[in-house]
Formats: sequence, structure tokens, C-alpha cells
Amino acid sequence: MPYCMYLRKSRKDSDHPGQAEEDVLIRHEQLLWETAQRLGLQIEAIYREVVSGDSIAGRPVMQQLLREVSAGDWDGVLVVEIERLARGDTQDQGAVAKAFQYNGTKIITPMKVYDPNDEFDEEYFEFGLYMSRRELKTINRRLMRGRQASAKQGKYIGGIPPFGYEKQKLPDQKGYTLIPNTDADTVRLIYSLYLGENSLGTGELATVLNNSGYRTQKKHFWSGSTVQKILSNPVYMGKIKIGYRPKVKVFENGVQKVIRPVKAFGEYTLIDGLHEGLISEEEWYQAAEKLKSSALVHTTKKYKPQNPFSGLMKCQLCGYAMKRQTNARGGSMYCVTPGCPCQYTDVATLELQLLEALRQSLSAFSHTESERNVIADEIKRTEQQLVQLRREQERLQRQLGNLFDLLEQGIYDKSTFVSRRTHLEEQLAALAETAAQLEQQRGLTQTKEAQAAALIPRIQSVLDTYLHLNSALEKNRLLKTVLRRIDYLRPDRDTPPALTLYLKFED
Ligand SMILES: [Zn+2]
Repeated sequence: MPYCMYLRKSRKDSDHPGQAEEDVLIRHEQLLWETAQRLGLQIEAIYREVVSGDSIAGRPVMQQLLREVSAGDWDGVLVVEIERLARGDTQDQGAVAKAFQYNGTKIITPMKVYDPNDEFDEEYFEFGLYMSRRELKTINRRLMRGRQASAKQGKYIGGIPPFGYEKQKLPDQKGYTLIPNTDADTVRLIYSLYLGENSLGTGELATVLNNSGYRTQKKHFWSGSTVQKILSNPVYMGKIKIGYRPKVKVFENGVQKVIRPVKAFGEYTLIDGLHEGLISEEEWYQAAEKLKSSALVHTTKKYKPQNPFSGLMKCQLCGYAMKRQTNARGGSMYCVTPGCPCQYTDVATLELQLLEALRQSLSAFSHTESERNVIADEIKRTEQQLVQLRREQERLQRQLGNLFDLLEQGIYDKSTFVSRRTHLEEQLAALAETAAQLEQQRGLTQTKEAQAAALIPRIQSVLDTYLHLNSALEKNRLLKTVLRRIDYLRPDRDTPPALTLYLKFED
């Protein structure tokens, strides 16, 4: 994700005559580096406008930047304030606004990130102080229409092709269509099993597929919901969806948000695709009908995350994510991989075990803390060694110098001189290497110290608050402040589960 900086002095800066122009730009650059670091942005170029022309025509660096933005080279441009990009006549401002808008290039200032992809970023439109709101809306609509027009022609406008298809560039025109691949037969099988005599449910169907060796697009095991996705996608009867996930503006706790809800079947438009369907329309509607009636049986409940270990816990035997299953005791964690000998354990048990493991790692760190003096001593010793080394280096250098005198005075003959010199140079090279190693070692000790010190208060706060939290979502967020991953191991019921923690150090 490449980003660049654009630095330009403006007339405003001359209002502080006490500051040299260079100082102003250096201060601005510093500010932008801090912003980049805070937001984790990768800066790959810095543009400095040396001339202070007001119009784009008078600003060659700006022209270059606009060309690159128009080519889609940058994900975002960092500037001290948005006015640095375009000031002056409205035509210029329009050109800047359009270039950024068309390419979805973000404008990042220390105060705010302006995102043109977010059509509800009001302030971006106000940056369109330069471009009227109506004008921008028209452009946006035109872009949307472009996509919709493609879809209306039956082209495939999605990113990743659906399971069973490959994306293929259309000959002699813009856009893509789909062609069946080797997974197409699996799609046909899913429909025929679902509509077949045995009348399998989606969960049972997943088990049948897994046991017969079928795998999903990501080469993982099928589940009820992945099967359901196949059964409800009209792409398989040769159709293209339009207006499937439109953006909707909502207010949540007084904060404006944009959501893209998946629309239910019947709420979006279907168009005949250019691609070939894998099953008949009749079959597809039959499957849709069956899905709908089975959905009515289940009471619809609003989805609420229930798994505090979500995104963290992996089965150590097969490496796949552990899932949570509801039971009377507040749920249990189990491995979904068919045939994996991994045994389940109750969530509540694992929570206590995890907290105990965290407490232990904390006391290991605190131990380190009491040993901090020892480490400080170690660093001091390394530094003393380095001082010693440098003295030795100087001594050898002097000897090397003396050698020349001895040669000149005729005390050493040529061959003695050469052999002494080689010997001294070898000693010097060995010293330099030792010094480099010592420096590296000192660096490592220091970083490890700093990382451990930063983690201690975070772990302490998990230990203090975890059991007071009521929702799995809050618990999950808290765990993720200190953990990257938890490996779960329980090969048989007689052994208690073992957890391996991967702590989240900085970097
Ligand atoms: Zn497993």
C-alpha cells in the first residue's frame, strides 16, 4: 500500500518571518512522518515543491504528482493541510479533486483522513469546496452506472470468481465473464444432493462432501454455511446480481456509519449473465424454496459473537481454527476437521486455564524485572568490553604505523615487514568482527527488555478485567491486546488440554 508525501510552502508560512523557509518544510516533514507512523503507512516518495506558484501550471512537482495519482500509483497522499494541494483558481481545484476522486486516492492530513471511496465522507465532499456537491454526485453516479452497465450486459463485475468458475477477459471488449473450472462438478453435486431423494440438510451435506474428499475454494472443509452460500448464489443458474450490497447510511449511538447489508433474494435484480449456468433455473428456484422453508423452521436470532477465542485459537494437531459449540455449560471449543483426534473442552475451563497461563508469563516477566539489574549489568559489561576492544584497535593501529618507521629505519627487512603487517591486519579484522557481534547482542538485549516492559501492564489489565466482562466480543478484543494466537492440544479425553500462548509483542 504505497503512500507519498507532498510538501509545499504556502503564503501562510511567510506570515512567520522569524522562521526560515527550510525550517518550515522540515517541521512539516517531521509532522507527516509522525502521522505516517501513527497510521502505519508506508511512505515511498517525498515530493517537495520548491517553487511557490499558486496555479498548477506553475508547480511542476504537483503536475508530476497529479499524473501519478491519475495513473493510480498511490493509495494516498500526505499533506499538512488539504489546501496545500489546490489553492488558486477553481479549475485547478477541480482537476485535483477529480484526480483523487476518480482513483479513490486518500488525502491524509495530521488531523483527518479524507477517503473518496467512502461516498458518505462528507468532508471529502467539502474538500470539494472546489467541486460542487452535485457535480461530485454526478461523477459518482457515472462511475456506479459504469459498473452497473457492465453488469447489465451480463458481465461479471465481482473480484474473486465464485466457486466452480474462473474469471475470463472478454475478447474485443472491456470486462470479464466466467468459465466453469474443475470445481463445477462439485457445485452440480451439491445441488443434486440437496434436492435428491435423501433430502439432506446443509450441515449433513457438508459432512457428506468432507467425507468424500471434496474441499472448498480455499481448500478447506465444507460447513453448513459454505454449502448454503453455493445453494443461494444465482450465478449458478447463469445470472448476475445487481444492487446486491448497496451502501446504506445509518446512525448508531449517534455516530454515522456506512453499512453494506447483504440483500435477501428478491430484493436485488437478476440479469442474464454472459456465462453459462451450471444448473437449470428450475433447480435453482427449487433449492431456494427449500432453503427458505428450512430457514423458517429455525427461529431467527440476531447474530451475536459468542466465542471469546475467535481468531485466536487453533488446533495444534491440524492447524485449523477451533470453533465454539453451544452447550448447557456456556459452550465448548472443538476442532471442526473431520478425522482429527482433537477433543473438545468447555470454554469456561479454557478461560481459567488461559488466565493462569497469562499470570505465569507475567510472573516470568516480573522475574525479569527483578533481574533487570542483572541485565543492566550485562549491558554495562558489554559496553566495557567494547571500550576495551576499541583501545586494542587503536593500539594495533599504532603498531601498524610503527612498522613503517621500523621498515624505513632499516630495522625490519621487507619480508619481516609484510608478515608483521599481515598479522596485525588479521588481528584488527578479528577485533572489528567481535565489536560488531557485541553491538548486535547489546541491541537485542535492549529491545527484548523494552518489549517485555511494554507487555507487562497490558497483561496485568487482562488479568484484572477479563472475568468482569460480560460479552464474548469484549473478552475477545481484550485478549487480542496481548495475544496473537493460542494453540490448543488435547489428543485424547484422558489428558487435560494444553495451551501454547503466542504473545503479541510490538512488531
Ligand atoms: Zn484438529
